[in-house]
Amino acid sequence: MATDTMTKPVIDGGTTKTRVFKNFIDGEWVESNSGETFEDRNPADTREVVAIFQRSNKADVDGAVDAARRAFAKWRLVPAPRRAEMVFRAAEILIERKEEHARDMTREMGKVLKETRGDVQEAIDAAYYNAGEGRRLFGPTVPSELPNKFAMAVRQPIGVCGMITPWNFPMAISSWKLLPAIVCGNACVIKPAQDTPLSTFNLVQALTDAGVPRGVINVIAGYGPEAGAPLTEHPSVRAVSFTGSSAVGRTIGTTAAKSFKPCSLELGGKNPMIVLDDANLDLAVEGGLWGAFGTTGQRCTATSRIIVQKGVYHKFVDHFVARAKKIRVGNGLDETVEMGPAVNEKQLTTDLNYIEIGKNEGAKLITGGNRLDQGELQHGWFLEPTVFIDVDPKMRIAQEEIFGPVVAIIPCEDLEDAIAIANNIEYGLSSSLYTKDVNKAFAAVRDLEAGITYINAPTIGAEVHLPFGGTKATGNGHREGGIGAVDFYTEWKSIYVDYSDTLQKAQIDRGE
Ligand code: NAP
Ligand code: MG
Repeated sequence: MATDTMTKPVIDGGTTKTRVFKNFIDGEWVESNSGETFEDRNPADTREVVAIFQRSNKADVDGAVDAARRAFAKWRLVPAPRRAEMVFRAAEILIERKEEHARDMTREMGKVLKETRGDVQEAIDAAYYNAGEGRRLFGPTVPSELPNKFAMAVRQPIGVCGMITPWNFPMAISSWKLLPAIVCGNACVIKPAQDTPLSTFNLVQALTDAGVPRGVINVIAGYGPEAGAPLTEHPSVRAVSFTGSSAVGRTIGTTAAKSFKPCSLELGGKNPMIVLDDANLDLAVEGGLWGAFGTTGQRCTATSRIIVQKGVYHKFVDHFVARAKKIRVGNGLDETVEMGPAVNEKQLTTDLNYIEIGKNEGAKLITGGNRLDQGELQHGWFLEPTVFIDVDPKMRIAQEEIFGPVVAIIPCEDLEDAIAIANNIEYGLSSSLYTKDVNKAFAAVRDLEAGITYINAPTIGAEVHLPFGGTKATGNGHREGGIGAVDFYTEWKSIYVDYSDTLQKAQIDRGE
């Protein structure tokens, strides 16, 4: 398999060395039919071009889907434990390359090294989990209601799966999709976000080096409407998995529904963290900071609303704001930096617009709110960690996903009031509660309308082997992670074997 092209540096203008990536289709590196490319730039220093990728179009999608279709015919017949062994080997390769891939990721999308190492680790964890799944893929074997008849159900792969990913967890989210899909016997075409193709290519390189055959995984780089949309529309793509915004998810879900394609949508969030009077306040402050400003607030599960009971409200705000002011913002390659830049200029503009909206709505901006552009920071998309207090839950900054380091602190009366505020939004991804009262904790677990609830931890921190996803506008009922992914990437076939040598009629021949 041609792997050299991927890492071979090319001379750009005779001065700088920039890696140029072709698309990866049928195990070959091929240029886009468009003849055009685009740059992947470092959001911490936009003078740096991290790599160049193909600007793919419908013709490229057609080629990739054809390759996947051909590969699927053979791959589906490879025993699942053999498929899984390749995924296991990929985990070991990723361990060796973890630091290199983390650095690539920090350069391509800005989050700090500690977090990009975590992102690669999540792909490793997902690889080990899914490798184990190759020896399970359990299905039910049940007694038949008739004599001398055997009844069972097996999981079968769906065919070619189309995948579209966002930029905030560029390797982890690609791994949540690709790994269960191929262990289940599907072939894939993936289009990563234009901001972060490199991390997906790094993952696919590891899988290729681990022995995944040509055509089983195909990667096309490019822009959403040009390369993503034709993938979701292609008649030979039999399932679509999308992670991204609710707006794009709605379009993709509508397209998929027209041809009855299974479609998994993992969308936005506006995640609440509730702090009750009896909480360990120091723990809640630290958790809130990590949840709100980790990944520069650019997590679907980011803690974007903190709902604090009135008895500790002022104390919580004081401690939280004092700590938020001390967060070190800068280039994520510097190990002392705690928060990197916004991923691109558009996201920074969105953040700044929401800060204006919050001010105009009458929320109190207590810290942050400004772009940071002094010294080296002038070359990147940096923003101060921003805190609004005394926020009314109906305000736009308390209702809409911002996807930046902007948090709304909302006072509340008691748990019941807090849960009502928490639930009164469009989304339902993650949620959290800080309390020492086990009764209140379990009541919140029952009543918070969200796919995930944390007790005494912030809204972030999912592990790969439990279902991941949300309710309401966060998705359409599917889950990634754990058995949820296996459910999505397989279809049931029920099998009845009658060894009675007579015609037995179900529901009719009851021997009565
Ligand atoms: P986005 O704008 O919806 O983009 C996501 C992906 O869709 C990108 O690859 C994008 O390509 C592609 N795309 C855009 N328009 C498309 C179209 N018309 N047809 C097909 N594909 C299209 O979201 P984002 O800004 O990258 O990511 C942030 C959003 O993702 C947030 O809302 C966040 O909450 C959500 N998210 C959800 C989860 C979850 O599991 N629930 C996890 C992470 C992120 P280009 O960018 O290349 O144009
Ligand atoms: Mg970039």
